[in-house]
Amino acid sequence: MKKRLSPKEKARVAEIFSRLAEVMPEPKTELRFQDPYTLVVAVALSAQATDVSVNKATDRLYQAAWTPQQMLDLGVEGLMPYIQSIGLYRTKAKNVVALSRILVEQYGGKVPLERSALQSLPGVGRKTASVVLNELGIEPAIAVDTHVFRVSHRLKLSAGKTPDAVERDLMAIVPGAYLTKAHHWLILHGRYTCVARRPKCEACVIRDLCPSGDLFI
Ligand code: SF4
Repeated sequence: MKKRLSPKEKARVAEIFSRLAEVMPEPKTELRFQDPYTLVVAVALSAQATDVSVNKATDRLYQAAWTPQQMLDLGVEGLMPYIQSIGLYRTKAKNVVALSRILVEQYGGKVPLERSALQSLPGVGRKTASVVLNELGIEPAIAVDTHVFRVSHRLKLSAGKTPDAVERDLMAIVPGAYLTKAHHWLILHGRYTCVARRPKCEACVIRDLCPSGDLFI
């Protein structure tokens, strides 16, 4: 069922995002990319890996191959050495080459910037497609990773038990003006302030709006 908020809760949620907007006016993904293709590959590589480790790998990889055709020429065996420091690299290498082949053969070497086409690419699930479409300003989406999941629960924005459930709640309650950037704000807040083990509640700009703040002081 679609989450509905009382007027008081509505005001609290709006204030949370207004304050996050104030401290992080232009939030961006920390993954490095040059165009839709290098973004899709970076996001696909980032599953269960840190952005830092992906950037380290792609900084070198994108000097050797930065288009679908070049990735195809590199092949799975050629790609693996570039990404072997990243978790699940064998599967990811196969997926990246397979998706590059589809882009070359079916899309003229371009990334289709539409959800169902994106999600039909090997290794590109709902979360990856959401990150790509949101990052490129095509479709507001809130991809729920471990940070977004944790922060949403602590702030009681959602009690959803799965990422999909949390995403549904967030999409229903985040004010429209904040939707595009909400994903980044929640990730960055979770990465640097509302960290997993010892959240920095004393330095948190939304502590007075957070039902969990006192639990960690
Ligand atoms: S007050 Fe603490 S638990 Fe609440 S959002 Fe801030 S850092 Fe997280």
